[in-house]
Amino acid sequence: MGQAKLRRQQQEEAAGAPLPGGGRRMPPAGEFLQRHEQLLAADRRGERPGAVVPCQTCTACCRNHQVLVIPGEERAEDLWHLDLEPVPQGWLLRHNPDGSCVHLGDQGCTVYPHRPRACRLWDCRLFSLAGVADYPGPHWVPRIRREADRQMMAALVLARTRVDPVLGPVQRMRAVLFNAFPKLLGSDASSPSLPPAERG
Ligand code: SF4
Ligand code: SF4
Repeated sequence: MGQAKLRRQQQEEAAGAPLPGGGRRMPPAGEFLQRHEQLLAADRRGERPGAVVPCQTCTACCRNHQVLVIPGEERAEDLWHLDLEPVPQGWLLRHNPDGSCVHLGDQGCTVYPHRPRACRLWDCRLFSLAGVADYPGPHWVPRIRREADRQMMAALVLARTRVDPVLGPVQRMRAVLFNAFPKLLGSDASSPSLPPAERG
């Protein structure tokens, strides 16, 4: 699929029908997964794609993650805008004592056009579909109503992301993280970088 069509689909998704209470629907899970795979494929082709998540006012992932930046994977002009600190596995976006990214401002990301690859590709909805975490709503809502459908979808996401479903919840979360977003986050045993729902 061409980039223009993918972008159009993503824009439609971001503008998805508002729900009572202010949330927005996400596309059916199979379609969502297909788009996620297209996004990663575009990234592998070096096209610098960005996930379009209807975040509205949520900034949870900019407050909780340690974001790994691999200079060789970023454009030089973007690196000039990023405040980085060295860690054994490379560089992290510098964060404040409260854990938030130093680039998070009152209106959201202050370096948005230059945000690193990890930020561009991140899509928290994958974790909810996989049944490993629920993010605070109501900024988006999975279009899955029946418990049986939810379980089937979680199994599909785990299979697509090559995660063993017998793993415990935290291990499953880590496996989805590493398999679906390879090398994106500065996550290792000594520096856990779990999405907000797991961090309490
Ligand atoms: S947690 Fe999800 S909805 Fe919230 S800012 Fe991150 S990607 Fe957006
Ligand atoms: S660079 Fe921007 S998008 Fe990435 S964590 Fe920081 S504030 Fe969030």
